[in-house]
Amino acid sequence: MTKKILVLPGDGIGPEIVAEAVKVLQRLQADGLDIELEQGLVGGSAWEAKGHPLPPETLEQARAADAILLGAVGGPQYESLERPLRPEQGLLGLRSELGLFSNLRPAILYPQLAAASTLRPEVVSGLDILIVRELTGGIYFGQPRGVRTLDNGEKEGFNTLVYRESEIERIGRSAFEIARKRSGRLCSVDKANVLEVTELWRQVMIRLGEEYPDVELSHMYVDNAAMQLVREPKQFDVIVTANMFGDILSDAAAMLTGSIGMLPSASLDAQAKGMYEPIHGSAPDIAGQGVANPLATILSVAMLLRYSFGDAASADRIDKAVGAVLDQGLRTPDIAAEGQASVGTADMGDAVVASL
Ligand code: NAD
Repeated sequence: MTKKILVLPGDGIGPEIVAEAVKVLQRLQADGLDIELEQGLVGGSAWEAKGHPLPPETLEQARAADAILLGAVGGPQYESLERPLRPEQGLLGLRSELGLFSNLRPAILYPQLAAASTLRPEVVSGLDILIVRELTGGIYFGQPRGVRTLDNGEKEGFNTLVYRESEIERIGRSAFEIARKRSGRLCSVDKANVLEVTELWRQVMIRLGEEYPDVELSHMYVDNAAMQLVREPKQFDVIVTANMFGDILSDAAAMLTGSIGMLPSASLDAQAKGMYEPIHGSAPDIAGQGVANPLATILSVAMLLRYSFGDAASADRIDKAVGAVLDQGLRTPDIAAEGQASVGTADMGDAVVASL
């Protein structure tokens, strides 16, 4: 059956990088991939056209689609808007309306770009980690929350870290399934020595592990995980963790690779329907110049095919094509070494298509 992909270019460099990802999809389509592409509005551009960062018609399109490819949202011109109308609300709205609780953040360092990392090349070259972060629960959503004034007049801020067993189980299942498709190793990161919530987290992961005897489950405290990520990152394959720990660890892992323009991400629901986007933002400083790196968005397409459509062959084909253009020495300015010549967004996209 034809699979429907909703394409949401968004703001800033979003339309430029998404155009290259669409070229890749169209090339696969010409080779027989049974997909249908539809465009929609989100973020600041949606607010300009429709008065809201997530217009009802976009939400309807998103519900009807099998997967969503998003560029980026945001820009300085929207910062004075009241909060519910800001571009990011478009993203948050899509995540919560579609129940996208499982956030997949790979940190991959192509050996060709090892010099871009702040860590020594031998520590990071060939790095390929996947962090599975719980995205719709935990301390970012727990109630009660707020700032109150105590009897003595002093203010007190408070948030609640809360996870139900079912929430832990569904993110755990998502991670075990993914680990099974990769090397079969899963590290669950918690703070079970201090926080009761994550003691429960660990118990649920151990219980789930019995259903996945082919996956080797280990556990690590979050403070140690932060240390190990910069000490010996290649010891990890798949990491699963709660919302706040994942937020912090995934940014640290991304920076190991040194190039924000190279990293894709996915947010999935229980049926592996997902929204795919580069981890970077709308880069207003370079928007409209045709120099943005489209590879993170192109690699997001590979994730889409792998995780939502179960098409590992097409995903591998894209991953390989990206490796090949890097081998050819093609670099957008953000990944070029000092003094190295660089190419623009469209040239990079064309090179990937040619390599496919
Ligand atoms: P950013 O990721 O947009 O940019 C940070 C730096 O990285 C900039 O120097 C930018 O030029 C560079 N960069 C980013 N992507 C690049 C690419 N593909 N190729 C080459 N260089 C690239 O982060 P920011 O500057 O903090 O935020 C800019 C806007 O993006 C803000 O409005 C922010 O709210 C928004 N934002 C959106 C998302 C999203 O859509 N998911 C994520 C983060 C930030």
